[in-house]
Amino acid sequence: MRSGTSMQEGGRTMQRNWRGFFAVIISAAIAAALTRMELPLVLVLALAMFAGGALLLVLDPTHSEDEMTLQAQEADLPSGFGRALLDNIPSPVFVINERGRVAYANRPMRSLVPRAEPGLHFSAIFRAPRFVEAVNKAFNSSPVRDIDFSALFGGTERVLNAHIAQLPPVSDFGPGAQVLVQIADLSDQRATEVARTDFIANASHELRTPLASILGYIETLRGHAKDDPEARAHFLGIMNSQAQRMQRLVEDLMSLTRIEMAAHSSPSEICDLYDTTREAVRALQPLAEKIGAELNLALPEEDLALIADRDQIAQVITNLTENALKYGGQGVSVTVSAASSVPPRPRMVGIAIEDTGPGIAREHLHRLTERFYRVSAKKSKEQGGTGLGLAIVKHILARHGGELAVESELEQGSSFTIWLPVSQN
Ligand code: ADP
Repeated sequence: MRSGTSMQEGGRTMQRNWRGFFAVIISAAIAAALTRMELPLVLVLALAMFAGGALLLVLDPTHSEDEMTLQAQEADLPSGFGRALLDNIPSPVFVINERGRVAYANRPMRSLVPRAEPGLHFSAIFRAPRFVEAVNKAFNSSPVRDIDFSALFGGTERVLNAHIAQLPPVSDFGPGAQVLVQIADLSDQRATEVARTDFIANASHELRTPLASILGYIETLRGHAKDDPEARAHFLGIMNSQAQRMQRLVEDLMSLTRIEMAAHSSPSEICDLYDTTREAVRALQPLAEKIGAELNLALPEEDLALIADRDQIAQVITNLTENALKYGGQGVSVTVSAASSVPPRPRMVGIAIEDTGPGIAREHLHRLTERFYRVSAKKSKEQGGTGLGLAIVKHILARHGGELAVESELEQGSSFTIWLPVSQN
């Protein structure tokens, strides 16, 4: 490789020497011709040198091309390598030329922003002042820049990161290519961060309220209620219910964490769906009697074996039936039955929990499984709700490859149906 390069350089030097010699001969001939015209010697010499110089340029038209090839070789860039590399990397990348126009955009970049075709001005790719300013600065100074900015895509705002760097003078994208931009979409990562901080803030808030109430009553019991047995009994009763609320919340939070931790390990035990449902519903009979509600079971006698986690399926049935009883209140009728497959879900089996309770307005339905989402915070707290019951249901069903379907109409009642895949034999 090295010897090949020096042989090429040797050949070029010989060519240049030969052209120089030829130019001197021609200049001398011109000088001789001019002397015959009896012009002053200084003028003769000046004209001869000018003609020789011009001849050298004419005889060496590949000069600048050679220099460029040499520079490229010195930079050790196999031609086309950079372009091939960028074509095959999964992150969006584009190159901007000295006129601020796209010189190249790889496939991921063109699928992120289809208008990012060669020739488009870079400021039309992302209309974000922070991005435009950073690219403009990159034209004038070499340090690599990393900026986060937001841009609108089809009406939704995405958070992006741009890694902006100056290119060496010679590259695969032509001598005018100056700036390389690499894009990363941070939206999902940011959304996860926001969800996590929201969750911690909500969980702390949920725990702080009963805790503050308990601390307040402790102060009262130490102070003016110290010698009042009636007030003491009353306050201790409230403190007990607040402490139980905290306990339920901690249990639900721990259960949610356990389910999330097992989210990627599929269940492996065999469980009978109807039998599990029957057992969970029967355990709620005392609650139904306390509320003054009617709890009906309408399941086929046959077995229905699934590959599922029995405790988790029991928890799903319990949460949904308990909600139907709690929010239905006195006089509600709750029926737990095998769901008929309408709309058809191939290879899925379902259990429907239907109530004749107050129903849920349409605008709340799509948010019910969000953590701490309640239609009425007051009613949920009166019923000892934590706002996590349906989030737990959703996560358990997701782990089982199942889904939850909710239908409800105000003053008509609600129907929560769980669908689970039948076992593949
Ligand atoms: P909570 O602990 O508050 O019961 P859930 O996640 O179990 O939390 O339920 C979320 C909200 O959905 C409840 O606060 C309630 O407003 C509403 N909800 C759930 N099930 C029913 C139902 N069967 N009838 C009416 N409202 C319901």
